[in-house]
Amino acid sequence: MDIPLVLAWVREIAAAVEQQEARLTELDSAIGDGDHGSNLRRGFTAVLAALDTLDEPASVGAVLTRTGSTLISKVGGASGPLYGSAFRAMGAALPGETADPAEFAAALAAGLAAIRKLGAAEPGDKTVVDAWTPALAAFERTADTGLAAAAGSAAEAAAQGVLDTVPLQARKGRASYLGPRSVGHPDPGAASTELIFRALATALGRLKPSG
Ligand code: ADP
Ligand code: MG
Repeated sequence: MDIPLVLAWVREIAAAVEQQEARLTELDSAIGDGDHGSNLRRGFTAVLAALDTLDEPASVGAVLTRTGSTLISKVGGASGPLYGSAFRAMGAALPGETADPAEFAAALAAGLAAIRKLGAAEPGDKTVVDAWTPALAAFERTADTGLAAAAGSAAEAAAQGVLDTVPLQARKGRASYLGPRSVGHPDPGAASTELIFRALATALGRLKPSG
């Protein structure tokens, strides 16, 4: 991981959020208030603008910290502070100009810890935690095979995590107000977490290895 790659990752997330806005909103309309797509779109549009004003980031973490702070300030709704604190925690964990896959795995773990600290969700509560947890585990399992392979397996594990939220009853966030009626739908936040991990794999596929 290096500064061009982290910039490519965040830009890829923004592009994916824009492309998937309607789907995320549709998922949130089923068990929430139908704003997850627009919340993230607004947030990542602001992130792109913020990154344009960040000339010569000094570290991988500087990019992620700026991303997180922007999400916290621009996104109302649960997902802004949750993803914002995750990106800030990842930023704090990556102070160098580069990071190896093990260091990046540790940053992903710090991101999940921040989400869980703020939102107090356990695995199985039907939230972003249910995609991030298996994605992190897959990344950690495959980190020694390199960043691209680890990102790919993390994205696949996140996708499975989204499917595994379907039979769950939500115990956190707005969807929990529905009680048993939240069963039978994928969690929108888990779906956007899949998109975040998939964007990393995509960014890696597009960038030439930097050695
Ligand atoms: P809001 O629920 O305020 O409208 P969003 O629609 O943007 O915010 O985000 C909803 C998503 O946020 C949910 O699908 C869920 O994954 C996630 N979420 C909500 N509460 C929590 C929590 N306490 N911990 C982790 N994730 C949560
Ligand atoms: Mg919502």
